[in-house]
Amino acid sequence: MSGPHYQGFEGAAIPNERRIVLVGKTGVGKSAAGNTILGREAFESDLSPSSLTSECHKAKGVVGGRRVAVIDTPGLFDTNFTQEAVVKRIKMCISLSAPGPHAFLVVLQLDRFTQEEQDTVKMIQTTFGEDAAKYTMVLFTHGDQLRNQTIESFISESPELLALIQKCNHRYHVFNNEIKNPEQTGQLLDKIDKMTLANGGSHYTNEMFLRAEVAIDKEKQRLLKELEAKKQKELEELRSQYAERPYRREMKRVNRRYEHEARALAEKSNDFVAAPVIAVATACGAAVGGLIGVAGGPIGVVIGVAAGAAIGATIGVISLKVSDRCHVQ
Ligand code: GDP
Ligand code: MG
Repeated sequence: MSGPHYQGFEGAAIPNERRIVLVGKTGVGKSAAGNTILGREAFESDLSPSSLTSECHKAKGVVGGRRVAVIDTPGLFDTNFTQEAVVKRIKMCISLSAPGPHAFLVVLQLDRFTQEEQDTVKMIQTTFGEDAAKYTMVLFTHGDQLRNQTIESFISESPELLALIQKCNHRYHVFNNEIKNPEQTGQLLDKIDKMTLANGGSHYTNEMFLRAEVAIDKEKQRLLKELEAKKQKELEELRSQYAERPYRREMKRVNRRYEHEARALAEKSNDFVAAPVIAVATACGAAVGGLIGVAGGPIGVVIGVAAGAAIGATIGVISLKVSDRCHVQ
């Protein structure tokens, strides 16, 4: 499996891939924005209750020569879910974007900015880590509503909106998801690249993402082992069909496919996402103190050792408490 040819695909996510996480309230146009980015109907985007996204989904593509992975989330911070359900989704979102996203896009519907949304950046910081704001950008949908107004003048009319944009270092972009205009996507990806560069050229990460990455890699290796015999059979067949040089090319292709498929499966099911969730409301101060020593652990999110967690998984107790005392600027 390993060898000089495949090093780029070993262990971690695909190199040069930009991982973009869409967050925001239900109905603001996250899934539609994901489709605009990828230039295809990768996510279900609809207002009907039955088709509302209830899980995190990931879709990939090459957009304008750039590898992009989009992680579409349900309204992670919608208030009408149980804590356990929210934590489960957040774990999946973390796993799908491990070893960490290049961009968190706070999706806002242009003409529907509420008090709740003003706190989104704070909630992202609370959930994913304080530094996450440096990787966050506001993405307005319903750009068609702007008509003749510029986005700048629209933003300047609302001090609350201005404050939110400020938290994101004045990074924002406008999408009209009704038109399939690849230019708006190219501009967004340019802005994301610029943000990545400003962040030292790399993606966001923290202890949780790294733990997820380790669990993914472990599961991926297990899957590859399990699939090894099947793969060898495939390769034997190819060997009988091809001469040496084309065979080697085909072999690379097969190896890569197995790597990718194992990775994709492992992202959805691994020790990190499977670890039992024991919701324990924890006061913010204690969390900051690092109850269980999660280095750089995000404020308000506590990861502990679950009793009886499989294979000594260290991730088990996740507690979320968005407290006023955890005020993050
Ligand atoms: P999500 O819950 O955040 O994923 O939102 P959806 O992507 O499902 O979008 C909700 C509704 O808003 C759908 O009916 C979309 O067609 C519509 N919508 C999303 N973006 C835009 C936009 O830019 N302009 C207009 N006019 N409608 C949009
Ligand atoms: Mg959706």
